Amino acid sequence: MADGPENPDNPTGAPRTAAPSVRVRVRRKPDRGRYEREVIDAILDAGLVAHVGYVVDGQPYVIPTLYWRDGDHVYWHGSAASRMIRTIASGAPVCLTVSHLDSIILARSGFNSSADYRSVVVIGVAEVVPDDGKAAALDGFLDYLAPGRSADVRPMTEKELKQTAVVRLSLDEASAKVRDAGLGDDPGDETWPVWAGTLPVRLTIGEPVPAPDLAAGIALPENVRSLSRR
Ligand SMILES: Cc1cc2nc3c(=O)[nH]c(=O)nc-3n(C[C@H](O)[C@H](O)[C@H](O)COP(=O)(O)OP(=O)(O)OC[C@H]3O[C@@H](n4cnc5c(N)ncnc54)[C@H](O)[C@@H]3O)c2cc1C
Repeated sequence: MADGPENPDNPTGAPRTAAPSVRVRVRRKPDRGRYEREVIDAILDAGLVAHVGYVVDGQPYVIPTLYWRDGDHVYWHGSAASRMIRTIASGAPVCLTVSHLDSIILARSGFNSSADYRSVVVIGVAEVVPDDGKAAALDGFLDYLAPGRSADVRPMTEKELKQTAVVRLSLDEASAKVRDAGLGDDPGDETWPVWAGTLPVRLTIGEPVPAPDLAAGIALPENVRSLSRR
């Protein structure tokens, strides 16, 4: 849903510190809900894998997929023949989520054992990127994986392009939720004789492993080397 007079939840189009719609208003622990685009963008841009949910014949399916963000949309791609793409292309409502586990919280009680996290939920109807925008969108995917990569790889063939579909979902109706509270034991529990604390969790990219048939003289490019330092 767009900002502005047509959106009763945000008639002035002001920067979003409130939910852009009732559907994405965080109700459970609302203090953890965030709606500013910079917060949503930062969570999306820190990830690679999203889960896309949709319903077929009353049965929900939630499918993991690589994604990327470009401006006001989150994009993903797949075989034009896949059920996910065909369902989305038919105009079915979708829900895309991205989550990062930041810390495992080992409290002194089971009740207060938890996690710190950042996550985004985006809902709406996705659109298929038209043929004349598909190649540029797929370049965006490669450059998301490794900046500048699209300029280095073999160009796509017409057949490959035809087999691939790209869909995009507007970020108009999105929420973020962030827990960064750390350990939260109840008063009195600190005397319980069990270890308590937090276990930080990080997703890291390891050292690059060259293709076994890599031609001699092809050095590891800086745009790939820098990824493993993230
Ligand atoms: C890594 C991770 C682990 C979690 N583990 C647990 C757990 O073990 N138990 C548990 O109860 N909860 C957990 N959560 C929180 C969980 O995602 C939900 O927020 C919570 O369960 C409340 O769900 P609800 O449907 O009642 O939310 P509601 O507040 O009713 O949801 C209303 C709207 O708020 C938004 N929203 C809700 N949750 C999120 C979210 N996580 N990110 C972005 N937007 C959101 C959506 O737009 C949704 O439509 C975890 C979250 C993450 C990211």
